[in-house]
Amino acid sequence: MAVVAHWYCGHCDVEGRDPATEPSCWNCGGAVIVTARPSLEWTDSARAAD
Ligand SMILES: [Zn+2]
Repeated sequence: MAVVAHWYCGHCDVEGRDPATEPSCWNCGGAVIVTARPSLEWTDSARAAD
């Protein structure tokens, strides 16, 4: 498992996950809104697709 931060960029309307507490947008490189605190995430597919 890895520590990841879920984030959202309102400028690009994209979201992503990064193994960092202060991630930046992969599209514009700007600041993003962290939508969930960094948490442990299992790499196993422990749950079904949404
Ligand atoms: Zn962006």
